[in-house]
Amino acid sequence: MEERILSGQLENEEKRIEVHLRPAWLTEYVGQNQIKENLQIYIEAAKKRGEVLDHVIFYGPPGLGKTTLANIIAREMGVNIKSTSGPAIEKPGDLAAILSNLSEGDIFFIDEIHRLHPTVEEVLYPAMEDYQIDIIIGQGPSARTLKLSVPKFTLIGATTRAGLLTSPLRDRFGVINRLEFYSPEELRLIVVRSAGIFNLSISEDAALEIANRSRGTPRIANRILRRVRDFAEVMSDGRIDCPIAKQALDRMDIDNAGLDTMDRKLLLLIIEKFAGGPVGVETLASSLGEEKETLEEVFEPYLLQSGFLDKTARGRMATEQSFKHFGKKSPNGRATAGALF
Ligand code: ADP
Repeated sequence: MEERILSGQLENEEKRIEVHLRPAWLTEYVGQNQIKENLQIYIEAAKKRGEVLDHVIFYGPPGLGKTTLANIIAREMGVNIKSTSGPAIEKPGDLAAILSNLSEGDIFFIDEIHRLHPTVEEVLYPAMEDYQIDIIIGQGPSARTLKLSVPKFTLIGATTRAGLLTSPLRDRFGVINRLEFYSPEELRLIVVRSAGIFNLSISEDAALEIANRSRGTPRIANRILRRVRDFAEVMSDGRIDCPIAKQALDRMDIDNAGLDTMDRKLLLLIIEKFAGGPVGVETLASSLGEEKETLEEVFEPYLLQSGFLDKTARGRMATEQSFKHFGKKSPNGRATAGALF
């Protein structure tokens, strides 16, 4: 996949910086107010009763703060967190080893939980329900099942799409949270907060400019901020003002609507090659040389939410807004005048 500044996906070298930028407590976590308020109550109630927190699932596009919330919950509960990802647990035995090494009340965080191996997932069911795992000893007719108790724990799962979870797994979560894209004002607060951590001076309107072009995603806002900082350091005295931010964003090929090269390629493909659609997601994916899943989980959610793309039973369609943005004439005959933004 070509490198995208606007991809919500995490690049390896970013991990260290992200940990540094991560809010530690619920009060520092910007936005997602409904989720925060509910979590606050569940956490307080569980602490009062001296019980472990119910299992929690977070779903939504990459970079919206799912891992951050899992870590915050552990801190607020005063427990340890053990983090892994679905595909990393290869065998039921690996899961059994992790679970039996937890302490009572610990958080077990599984990112990309929809990618668990089915055999591993089956071991997880009784563990979530009764804190027990079934281990099969021996093979063939003499095989026996041994029940093993594991410490009471809270499973926190993260996934890009809840629809990818099997229903037995989904049913075992007590709290299901969908993370939303952030508003420009929320992203502005995140940019200002991150600038503070980096010790940067940034003007209000520059922070808002970055926020407006970050696809509603904190990870992208932070990534753009770091690139803008480079521009500011090389091209002026290091202070980030609006002209510098704009110049840097233009150089990064992020347009006024916050769309990057890949977004534009996708929309222009639908507009120019498929007369605005509808066109099937498989066809789009192969024309762009991308995986269908990447298209659905990374590229599309923001384009759908921001009104550039429509999802219909017959396939994807470019919206009127899309045609306008590119100054194209839409198939329903209405001439459009220049870009909307
Ligand atoms: P996800 O797990 O959904 O892919 P992360 O939790 O790793 O996303 O978040 C990516 C980065 O974005 C974090 O390092 C953090 O700096 C920032 N971030 C995410 N959500 C928030 C928020 N609500 N407030 C402040 N920063 C946030």
